[in-house]
Amino acid sequence: MVLLACAGHVALNGAVQSKTIAGREVVNVSDISNHLGMKMRWVERGERISLANQWTRIDIGSKERHILINNVRISLGRPVLAYRNQLYIDTLDWHFTLLPVITPQQFKPSKPGPIRTIVIDPGHGGKDPGAVNKQMGLQEKSLTFDVSKRIQQHLTRAGFRVVLTRENDTFIALEDRTVIANRHKADLFLSIHFNSHADGSAQGVETFAFTLINHPSTARSSTVKSDRLHAQANRHDPWNALLGYHIQNRLIRGLSERDRGLKRARFTVLRDIRCPAALIELGFVSHPETARKLKNANYRNQLAQNVAQGVIDYSARIQAIR
Ligand SMILES: [Zn+2]
Repeated sequence: MVLLACAGHVALNGAVQSKTIAGREVVNVSDISNHLGMKMRWVERGERISLANQWTRIDIGSKERHILINNVRISLGRPVLAYRNQLYIDTLDWHFTLLPVITPQQFKPSKPGPIRTIVIDPGHGGKDPGAVNKQMGLQEKSLTFDVSKRIQQHLTRAGFRVVLTRENDTFIALEDRTVIANRHKADLFLSIHFNSHADGSAQGVETFAFTLINHPSTARSSTVKSDRLHAQANRHDPWNALLGYHIQNRLIRGLSERDRGLKRARFTVLRDIRCPAALIELGFVSHPETARKLKNANYRNQLAQNVAQGVIDYSARIQAIR
């Protein structure tokens, strides 16, 4: 009954029965296939399944902590379970990650209103430069501001009202960024960042949605006590997943960057927000080739265009729910 408590306003879908196997609440992938009317094929018996219909393809592999939806890597809270020649997915992952991406219609009662105001949060600023590549003269705080301004232009042109959490190079505490978004009555919130890693070979783009209740974030494999707490952001679980999917989808299709996936984290800027939200890591300043590209305004504009297009796709999916 944990799920009902978490789901709150969302009616559970009775068509796919949850089972307890090895102490885990899971659903059988073949039941998912029947429920969604997707054709199921064993790519490797007992190990790897592909589900497909004319619009969607889902690839699921035993023990993996991610699946592919239309070739977009989607992180799961718990690994796929193999049991007696069947594959099982965690019930929360099924209900709050797969289902909203594939048929958001199922969440109609909690559907957000039309998107009017979008708040974009350029990460870091002022005394906090964020990630730095000295050699290439790159600072994350300047990149996030540049790309946020460009996203603003694209989305304004598409008819949205777009506000930034900072309009110059100033420091804003993480908690204050959500306060600003809530004050502007944001219908959607995007926090823009760039990555860095001591290992210069790390590369690619990733999008974060707030972690589901009772699940560990992607960076960890087991839960801690605080993972059981309900946050403001969890009211939007299905919509956070749908938004994150569409942004990551555009980023990997529009750019030839490595797909690091839609991931989960309990970031402060995602936690207390009163609307669907995503945090986007648009590449590693520490990767030589990426750093070279980030110096180029055309490339930064491509990044912005793809983020904006992801938002437009998401907005269209919401509007299509009747
Ligand atoms: Zn950052």
